[in-house]
Amino acid sequence: MQLVKPILKQARYSLFAAVALLRIKLKKSPSLIILTYHRILPGQSLLRHTEQPGMIATPEALDMHLSLLKRLGAEFVSLDTWLDAQRKNKGLPRLAVAVTFDDGWQDNYEHAFPVLKKHSIPATIFLVSQRINTSWLFWPEQVLDLLINHFHHLGHEALQWLRPYLEASDDPSSPYTILQADSVINRLKALDDHTIETHLEQTRNTLPALGQTTPSARPLLNKQELDTMLASGLITYGAHTRHHYRLNHLGNQTTLENEIVGSHEDLEKLGLQPVRIFCYPNGDITGKGEQLVQQHFTAACTTERGWNRTPPNPFGLRRFNFHDGNGSTPLSFLATLGRP
Ligand SMILES: [Zn+2]
Repeated sequence: MQLVKPILKQARYSLFAAVALLRIKLKKSPSLIILTYHRILPGQSLLRHTEQPGMIATPEALDMHLSLLKRLGAEFVSLDTWLDAQRKNKGLPRLAVAVTFDDGWQDNYEHAFPVLKKHSIPATIFLVSQRINTSWLFWPEQVLDLLINHFHHLGHEALQWLRPYLEASDDPSSPYTILQADSVINRLKALDDHTIETHLEQTRNTLPALGQTTPSARPLLNKQELDTMLASGLITYGAHTRHHYRLNHLGNQTTLENEIVGSHEDLEKLGLQPVRIFCYPNGDITGKGEQLVQQHFTAACTTERGWNRTPPNPFGLRRFNFHDGNGSTPLSFLATLGRP
């Protein structure tokens, strides 16, 4: 059985990769594939030790994805330009590929931008407007830091709020593995983002030691990096709310407006226009939120997986999120694109 599992996995990968290749080669009507990335970090980067596995790809993998699709005849487009051409009934490439990055990580400038420049490939980065130019760490990374670097504090009463989300079987005397910490993060998603951030802030105030081994590298993009990328003509920006709050956890209209409309205003004030596309944090959508998005943006990206046919639903754009686990080899990359 031990031998059968990897063989079956390989066979499944090959089948899905073949499906992707056939679609890429034989598709007649114009379609759009949107690739999504979060963090681009080299294999040896220490920042990987406190990041969720589904968030990271290497610069080499990004390079391989772009080179492979180019060789297969895909035309790389800016998402905004493709949507505009589609609206105006202009000619569309048979197979268009748009590249997107979520959250606005500093490593997008350091490790992804050079790859995009090398291939002259455009991309859209979705920014969390109130976190630009700050040393903010999103709550999942704060929790990872806590469970991995500060696990010996878990018994402290300042962390009582976290206990219901830990597994009873977790060993309190050793650091969490990334996968164990990942499960805690998923369970914490039952709470709204602001509540989690408030808990973390209060915990840090009570236990100042928690702030000390947080990775020293600045996590998010600063204004200068954003301006440099904008000036290259390759990068455009989209809005990903003001604070990365999941919209389905926001109770009232004022908060929703603040997050959706406010992020648009912030980015324009920073001179990062045109800001036409919105991206739902965690892919979570609500009716009222969607209405606001439709009033202030021309399109929106989801976390739903799949190809976009023409005409697409501009407010329900599907994407493929790539990370080490599903895109480190050409076979796994193609298999992800071909999976039903
Ligand atoms: Zn996000």
